[in-house]
Amino acid sequence: MDKLNQTAEIIRVRFAPSPTGYIHVGNARTALFNWLFARQKGGVFVLRVEDTDIERSREEYERNLIQDLRWLGLDWDEGPDVGGNYGPYRQSERLELYHKYAKQLLDEGKAYYCFCSPEELEKEREAALAEGRMPVYSGKCRNIPRKEAEKRRAAGEPAAIRLKVPDEGIVEFDDLVRGHVEFDLKLIGDPIIVRSNGMPAYNYAVVIDDALMNITHVVRGEDHVSNTPRQILLYRALGWQPPVFAHLSMVMGKDNTRLSKRHGATSVDQFRREGILAEALCNYLAFLGWSPPEGHEVLRLEELVRLFDLSRVSRSAAIFDYEKLHWLNRQHIKMLPAEKKLELALPYLQETGLVGTEVTPAQMDWLKKAIEILIEGVDKFSELPQKFSLLFDFEPEKLDEEAREIIGSELAKKVLAAFIQKTAGLQEFNYEIFARITGEIKKETGVKGKDLYHPLRVALTARASGLELDKFIPLVEEGARLNFPKSILSCLVRLNRIKTSLNL
Ligand code: GLU
Repeated sequence: MDKLNQTAEIIRVRFAPSPTGYIHVGNARTALFNWLFARQKGGVFVLRVEDTDIERSREEYERNLIQDLRWLGLDWDEGPDVGGNYGPYRQSERLELYHKYAKQLLDEGKAYYCFCSPEELEKEREAALAEGRMPVYSGKCRNIPRKEAEKRRAAGEPAAIRLKVPDEGIVEFDDLVRGHVEFDLKLIGDPIIVRSNGMPAYNYAVVIDDALMNITHVVRGEDHVSNTPRQILLYRALGWQPPVFAHLSMVMGKDNTRLSKRHGATSVDQFRREGILAEALCNYLAFLGWSPPEGHEVLRLEELVRLFDLSRVSRSAAIFDYEKLHWLNRQHIKMLPAEKKLELALPYLQETGLVGTEVTPAQMDWLKKAIEILIEGVDKFSELPQKFSLLFDFEPEKLDEEAREIIGSELAKKVLAAFIQKTAGLQEFNYEIFARITGEIKKETGVKGKDLYHPLRVALTARASGLELDKFIPLVEEGARLNFPKSILSCLVRLNRIKTSLNL
């Protein structure tokens, strides 16, 4: 039967993060693929928090990961915060279940107590490595009679529980992404299922949970492929049917090493703070291992749900391309209504002090117009304050070389002197006035094109390049009347400053 289109049962998938840090792109992609698959197939998406590593798990991380997933636009049908019929959804609240099945495995002789100390195990491991053998647990405690083991435990000796694994044979499974996978049992020692501190090991808890939560498809990172045979052996020992597995390739940087801080932002939280849109990030994450049918690139979540195809996910490593993400972000920004752009941009402008905490309706209105114009070509919202400096900063004393060159020629000085003379005494300035005066200068002096407009651009913006003046002048003129914490200078004030600075 086509495993992707099973109709007999409802597809149930899960995302099972450990709350030990911020959610990074690899995990976010795993969450997204599970979610897309569930939503597309009318299935159920479960969030399960795997917090059995008591030393590293923190509630704060759980809160953050829930917040990050919600920000991405993913929702779950069952989870620690929303409940569901298969709860609890936090592993630390399911310890009784793990103990119940561990006892069953012990009673059936499929598991045993292991009294080996960490030091002993480490010695065994080192010896194996020194002899060039795979470090596989020797099975030393396998044959300790149950009664004797219970006695030693009762006397306070710490003991882990291990699953008995057959010495020979293979474990195999058909991975939806990687195809047929086989593991030689000789290379798999008896895995610990419950640690001596009573906490379940990952491989064990995950099987109990996936089985009891009726998970039909396990979609997760490739770093778990080598865990899968152990999990399948546990399913077998418990007499349960394993789910279908799909292991997603690792996410790498462009230099083919695992994506890390060296490459740039890696956590969802960092991307959010930089001003990457959730929809753009999801759009990009979907492309890590999957490519949409030709002609589709800028995709909203609902379009991804429609087009996504788990069976077409590639097994080769996914390369994280920041430029592509930024390009997609620009496309998604363009699609936002002006109101939304303003809402998202405001915190960045406030943080840099360009805009105060109290914003008047007139300022809002102006900001909306300015953002519409300045956002063009901006990769992410965090770059916007820098763009706004074009309007807020005017420093004719600090012209760059190109601007100084433009303004330094005799011809430029002639144009500027004429322009300043014609604007002297004006109370008001706008683009129409600018166009009329430049028209007059052109007629009177014969100067035109670059020679005419470039010096004027430098005079009004103190920069060699930037916005078209028909956009710049109205923005600056209106902005100058709006009492921002850092005031915007009007064009006439700018011309005055240029006049002084150039001694015209
Ligand atoms: N808690 C595991 C992780 O975060 C889950 C792995 C799995 O999906 O089985 O890597």
